[in-house]
Amino acid sequence: MTTVCIMGAAGRMGQMLIRCGVSNPNVTITGAVERPGHPDLGKDAGVLAGIDPIGVLLTDDPAPAIQACDAVIDFSFHEVVPDHAELVAKHRRALVIGTTALSEDEAAVIDRVASLVPVVWAPNMSLGVNLLFAMTRRAAEVLGDDYDVTIDDTHHVHKKDAPSGTALWLGSKVAEGKGVSLEKTMIHDEGGTQESYPEGSIPIRSYRRGEVVGDHTVRVQSAWETIELTHHAWSRDAFARGALHAARWVVSQRPRLYDMQDVLGLQ
Ligand code: NAD
Repeated sequence: MTTVCIMGAAGRMGQMLIRCGVSNPNVTITGAVERPGHPDLGKDAGVLAGIDPIGVLLTDDPAPAIQACDAVIDFSFHEVVPDHAELVAKHRRALVIGTTALSEDEAAVIDRVASLVPVVWAPNMSLGVNLLFAMTRRAAEVLGDDYDVTIDDTHHVHKKDAPSGTALWLGSKVAEGKGVSLEKTMIHDEGGTQESYPEGSIPIRSYRRGEVVGDHTVRVQSAWETIELTHHAWSRDAFARGALHAARWVVSQRPRLYDMQDVLGLQ
C-alpha cells in the first residue's frame, strides 16, 4: 500500500487523482494540499472531487501532509513546484511531478532534489503514450531511411499550442531512431494542407476539431507497406492513473531523476 499526498488537489488533475486514488486498492490518499487562500480549504477532498468523504481535509500546509505520506504527486503550478520539491527532499519522501512548463531555474531545483530523493517527472503520464514513444523510436530505428514517418496530432478546438507537446516528443523519438536532428528535419503542417514533404523530413500535422481529447498517429510508410501506431486519449484518467502507477513505483527507487520510460522499464 502506498500512501500519497496530492499538491494541487482541488484542480482538474488533483480531483481526478483523488477519484482514481480512492478506487485503486494499492493506494491511500493521505494528504490534499492547495494554495493559501483557496476557497475550499478545510473541506473534505473526496467531496470536492465529487465522491464520498475520504476523511482528508484540503490544507494549505504542505509540510505535515508530506511527512505523513510515502509519495507526493504534484499537479499544481510550475512556480511552486521547487518549494514543494525542497520540502519533499527535507522529509526524504518520493516525488512524482506532472506539472508542466517549468523554467530552467525551476528545473535545476528538481535536478538537485533528485540527487537526494527519487523523482519521476514527465509532461505526459499516460502509460499508453509512453509506450507509443518507445514503439515510435524503435520503428524509426529498425525501418530506417527507406520509410517516411509522419505524425498527426488531433485535439479539441480550445487547445492553444500546436503541435502538441506529445507530438513534438514523438518527433524527437523519430529523430532519435533515425539518428538525425529534429530541429533540422521537422516540418509543422498546420491543418495538413501540404501535398508532399521533402525527403528525409519529419512532418507533424496538427488538426483542431470539436472536443477531441487527444489523438496521435505515427505513420511509417514506404511504397510497399504502411504501419500506423495510434493512441486515443479518452479522458484525463489516463494521466491520473499513470501518475499513481509512478508513485507506487518510485517509492522503492534510489535517488535519481526518472521519467515514465523508466517507470515502464522501456529505457
Ligand atoms: P488546474 O489549474 O486545474 O489545477 C492546478 C491546481 O494547483 C489549482 O487548483 C491551483 O489552485 C493549485 N495550486 C496553485 N498553487 C498551489 C500551491 N502553492 N500549493 C498547492 N496547490 C496549488 O490545472 P490542471 O489541469 O489540474 O493541471 C495542473 C498541471 O498539470 C499543469 O501544469 C498541467 O499542464 C499539468 N498536466 C500534466 C499532465 C501530465 O500527464 N503530466 C496531464 C495533465 C495536466
